[in-house]
Amino acid sequence: MSFRLRLSLLFVATLVAVQIFTALLIYGVARRAFIAEGERQLSAGATAVVRQLDDISTRVADNVQVLALDYALRAAIAQHDQSTVLSALRNHGRRIGAAAVVAMDGKAYWMIVVPVYAPEPIALIAAGIPVDNSLLARLQQLSVLPNTIELITDAGAGRWTDVARGNESVELASALTAAGHSLPLQPTLVRADGREYVALAKRLRESQQSAPVALVLGYSIDDALQPYRSVALAWASLVALGLAAGLIGAMLIARSVAHPIETLAATVHRVESGDYTAPSPVRAGGEIGQLAAAFTNMTHAIAEREEHIRHQALHDAVTGLPNRQAAEAAIREALTGVANTSGALLMVGLARLPEIIQTMGHSICDRVMQDAGARLRQFAARGFVARATDAQFSVWLDGTGKADAIAMAFRILDALGVPYQESDLSIDTAPAIGIALCPQHGSEASALLRRAEVALIAALDSADPVAVYDPTTDPHRPERLTLMTDLREALDRNELRLHYQPKLNLVDRRIDSVEALVRWNHPQRGSVPPETFIALAEKTGNIRRLTRWVLASSIAQAQEWAARGHLLRVAVNLSARDLDDAELPRRIGDLLSLHGVSPRSIVLELTESAVMGEPELAVQVLKRLADLGIDLAIDDFGVGQSSFAYLRRLPVREIKIDRLFTQRLGEDAGDRTLVRSIVELGHRLGYRVTAEGVETRAAIEYLREIGCDHAQGFYVARALAADAVERLFTRSEWDVTHAGANT
Ligand code: C2E
Ligand code: MG
Ligand code: MG
Repeated sequence: MSFRLRLSLLFVATLVAVQIFTALLIYGVARRAFIAEGERQLSAGATAVVRQLDDISTRVADNVQVLALDYALRAAIAQHDQSTVLSALRNHGRRIGAAAVVAMDGKAYWMIVVPVYAPEPIALIAAGIPVDNSLLARLQQLSVLPNTIELITDAGAGRWTDVARGNESVELASALTAAGHSLPLQPTLVRADGREYVALAKRLRESQQSAPVALVLGYSIDDALQPYRSVALAWASLVALGLAAGLIGAMLIARSVAHPIETLAATVHRVESGDYTAPSPVRAGGEIGQLAAAFTNMTHAIAEREEHIRHQALHDAVTGLPNRQAAEAAIREALTGVANTSGALLMVGLARLPEIIQTMGHSICDRVMQDAGARLRQFAARGFVARATDAQFSVWLDGTGKADAIAMAFRILDALGVPYQESDLSIDTAPAIGIALCPQHGSEASALLRRAEVALIAALDSADPVAVYDPTTDPHRPERLTLMTDLREALDRNELRLHYQPKLNLVDRRIDSVEALVRWNHPQRGSVPPETFIALAEKTGNIRRLTRWVLASSIAQAQEWAARGHLLRVAVNLSARDLDDAELPRRIGDLLSLHGVSPRSIVLELTESAVMGEPELAVQVLKRLADLGIDLAIDDFGVGQSSFAYLRRLPVREIKIDRLFTQRLGEDAGDRTLVRSIVELGHRLGYRVTAEGVETRAAIEYLREIGCDHAQGFYVARALAADAVERLFTRSEWDVTHAGANT
């Protein structure tokens, strides 16, 4: 049921209820007034009738008295002259207006009996006045009597029969009998002939032999109400008219209330479906007007916010340029045109960017990108400029061929070639541009972006700053890029796994630590060597995500083992790029406290090259990690250019001798000397020493002999899944002196 209909019905129902209530009230009051009036009239009328009857009888009695004294009559009676008596009586009877003197059953008479003296009583004159219909009718005519008058007599057994009735009088006697009423000596309500009467009875003087006779007067309430019938009719018509008018009015009011609400509802649906055009103005005052105004404001606010969100989704926050998605969408749109399906995509990169980040940090890198973006904007009139990745811009040139694209690339290089200036700093960003052409190199936005990126990588590597994509000379690049995308997805889908390689403590011959090594089982390529995808992740900037994942997983694993009573150190490999991340110490601290793992349980491995050159930020990060109580280890020691003298300045606690030196310990005396020297010197300087790549019993025996702390390698165990490696923790005595025990 619509709001409008309900509102109308409410109006009408209220109207009808009020009218009916009023009508009932008026009817009730009127009826009561008429009953009272009837009672009053009846009392007065009854007394009058009885008095009239009395008058008549008095008159008759007087006349009869005169008759009795009549000399001629007395003489005629005395002489028994019957005919004279009769004529005298008839004569007198005519004068007194009385009829024949007969008493009969079922009829009533006023009887007057007078004796005739001569001087002795010689006769009785009995005069009777019949109280019949005509007498009652006459009485009715003479007085203002109520409309019903009836003479009734007791027929015995509580029944009443009528003796005479006035004009147009109903039978009240039978109605009284039927209702079981006794004689209504007080005004009483009676129904007769389907109508309502107030009835009042007066008993008449009766002789002792006669049955009780009473006069009943009836006052018809319906008749009294009769004049008001037309009023009632007029009232009913008025009500009907008012009802119709009310209904129409109600509909109109309901419409005026409901219409703006319906308009608003319609607008809400439009907004819901994303149409923010100003809502149709609702012309209403009061609350609905306020609601409509508030609604309009809200719609504008939503539209603005959505616009803002859309802008954010498609734009880069640093440069304000459209982002990669926006670029892809723009290229896709340009290529869907039928007439024009050619174009060139320029991928602009800054060769120095990684170096700038490493030496000067990320915020200056943002400013460099901002500046480069601003310079590129001047080409926006010629093509669609976007920030394609963290380190690259793309420029899409619609309908442009190879020659024009190259010319454009050089113009862009000119614009970006001017060094970036900040206070007394002047930074040469070394821009380079890769070009992919449509349709030669692809006709899909994503393919073009990938190929232009491949071309850019070629340009960054070569002396020529502009390179056009060439599928023949650089076949691996696209594949590597795909691998990068796959790695990103693998991280998203949590498809990477960690394996743990145990480190055997050579003093107590127990496994007291493990190294976490990441494993990637590619759905198509099978297992990808970590060296391949880690190098790739380092280049493409995904390494931090990967490191974060490895840290979180291995710290959770350490906690799990600790809970099962295996207190060991878990070593995690960090890459050089991780040390640019000033957030890293805090993040590791958070992970440790989240899992309730002691910092002593974690070792971070870094290669020599990662800490070489001592970039200020990297050293700070290392110091903060050491302050947390986490040990740092130098991985692959011996193959880089670092020296103990250099490492002394860093908070390092452990060195891991590269497997290059340990693998031929059995046969090569030179390697033996080298390893022994490293171990001895390392110990003197306070480092723990681990030998990596231990594959033979000879190697492990020698390492034990020279006091090396830990051995790690296939001879002990390969990197294994967490549950498999856990079984090795409980093995009590690792045989490092007898052959074949550990296979
Ligand atoms: P690494 O840190 O020096 O790890 C030791 C590598 O030597 C591992 O190769 C291990 O399987 C292998 N290895 C262990 N024992 C022997 C042995 O007796 N003989 C030989 N020939 N090899 C042995 P893997 O797992 O392929 O890892 C290669 C490198 O990838 C690691 O070298 C490390 O630099 C990097 N890497 C692995 N996992 C991670 C990681 O989670 N994060 C980072 N940043 N780098 C990782
Ligand atoms: Mg390592
Ligand atoms: Mg190593």
